[in-house]
Amino acid sequence: MAILVVGSVALDTIETPFARREDALGGSAMYFSVGASFFSDVRLVGVVGTDFPADAITLLQNHNVDITGLQQVEGKTFRWSGRYHMDMNQRDTLDTQLNVFEEFSPKIPDEYKSTDYHFLANIHPALQLDVLSQVEKPELIITDTMNLWIDTTPDDLWKVIAQTDIMLISDSEIRQLTDEPNLLVAGKKLLKEGPEYVVIKKGEHGAMLVDNGGVFFAPGFPLEDIVDPTGAGDVFAAGLVGYLEKTGTVTDVTLRQAVIYGSTLASFNVEDFSLERLKTLTEDEIKERYRMFKQITHFESE
Ligand code: AMP
Repeated sequence: MAILVVGSVALDTIETPFARREDALGGSAMYFSVGASFFSDVRLVGVVGTDFPADAITLLQNHNVDITGLQQVEGKTFRWSGRYHMDMNQRDTLDTQLNVFEEFSPKIPDEYKSTDYHFLANIHPALQLDVLSQVEKPELIITDTMNLWIDTTPDDLWKVIAQTDIMLISDSEIRQLTDEPNLLVAGKKLLKEGPEYVVIKKGEHGAMLVDNGGVFFAPGFPLEDIVDPTGAGDVFAAGLVGYLEKTGTVTDVTLRQAVIYGSTLASFNVEDFSLERLKTLTEDEIKERYRMFKQITHFESE
């Protein structure tokens, strides 16, 4: 049992109202792999350039991430740069340099092809489709995306969504994708296009799970100090998918628990820049915060 993830491995330049970091380790698949490793075996498919730092490889190895599918090729690693507003739910992309991604063609190692759970992290939808065309039909396909692909390649994105079981998408993205301002209505619209579950991410305000039976809502964990929200969505996915894979079943009960594990893990990630907080995170800390989630959301019926 394991999770296969395909996505970006990046060097990010991040500006918040309070600090700046250059060439910090990032990328959707990088955040996801380290986050999900707290729950499950992870197989990473991606590409980096010759400038990719050796200690980042060591970090993946320390977390037992299988990097057979991580290609290192001549050229520069994918770079992304973003600036957060004072309201850190808002950010602008300042720069995207595809670099080695420009020529990237994912090659799924034979031993990965029968992996049960696939997480298609944020990456060009054509690459997500390419991965799906190479593998045996997995038990569960979980997909993430971003506004860039909704703007530039919606047709490919809809093809990915049609094959997806659980769609993870932010509030602004689902409004844009479905052309529907109401999140519940937007979630229901997306359910008609393939996924059995839609999880709408609302940044520090939590996440909403929509399925044909109804809705479930998880708040964001209340934190006094948010340092860097980058990767929160990917680490949310890591907690959610990692927990589902660990339990081996997708039911209404495990899905709700998985959404809380997603919110729990994401709340740690924003406490420091890049993957710094994940590096020191322990399973006990995760369990303790999961318990605190129950405390802050529980109430008695009248
Ligand atoms: P999140 O904050 O969860 O949306 O994820 C942020 C990560 O997404 C950063 O580490 C970036 O390197 C990565 N990212 C940004 N733009 C892209 C893109 N166009 N394709 C793939 N990954 C991207």
